[in-house]
Parts: sequence; structure tokens; C-alpha cells
Amino acid sequence: MAFKHGAIIVRNGKQISSGYNKRVSRPFYCRGGDFSIHAEMDVINKVSDFALLRDAELYVVRVLLNDENEIIKINSSYPCHACRTKLMKVVRKYGLKRIFYMSHEDSRVD
Ligand SMILES: [Zn+2]
Repeated sequence: MAFKHGAIIVRNGKQISSGYNKRVSRPFYCRGGDFSIHAEMDVINKVSDFALLRDAELYVVRVLLNDENEIIKINSSYPCHACRTKLMKVVRKYGLKRIFYMSHEDSRVD
């Protein structure tokens, strides 16, 4: 079983970027020996024009998949310190309107 972490940014009903957790060879954005770029950073990095972030919304989802790639469970997802700091800058500087993180409450897939 594996966790998958994904993120999309939507503006005026259109998706302007998508991202996911990626393994990297050395610690990148996130601290504590975490050798990955988190989905919410990947999705920001892929935005073609930061002006598009004004009034846009970011959605971050974490799911647990079985070996057949079926969703077992939707999991809680919240930003690490490094991502939160960067996201707050994006909110202030580029006007990203809202950020949603999936909660595990009432989100079990049966
Ligand atoms: Zn992070």
C-alpha cells in the first residue's frame, strides 16, 4: 500500500496547475531529512504565470492506495512548516485566495 499526495490549483473553474509528491536525491524544500518535494510546492512550481494565482484556490489531497491502485482511504493532509511558510508568502504576494487540505473526518471510502 502507498500514500499518494496530489494538489491542484483552480481559478474561475479552470485548473491552472497540478502537482504531486516527488522523491528527490537530496532534501529540497522541506526540512527534517525529507527527500521529497511536497505536492503543494510542486503545484506552485508548475504555475506558468504567477499572476494566475490571484483569486485562485489550492486543493491538497492525500489518499492511501492498495496494490491494485484502488483508493483505500482518504487521509488527513496538512502542510509541513516549510510548505506553510512558502504558501503564506504566495497568499500575501500573489493573492492566492484559499487553500483546502483534505481532512480524514467522514472521508473513509468504502
Ligand atoms: Zn512540505
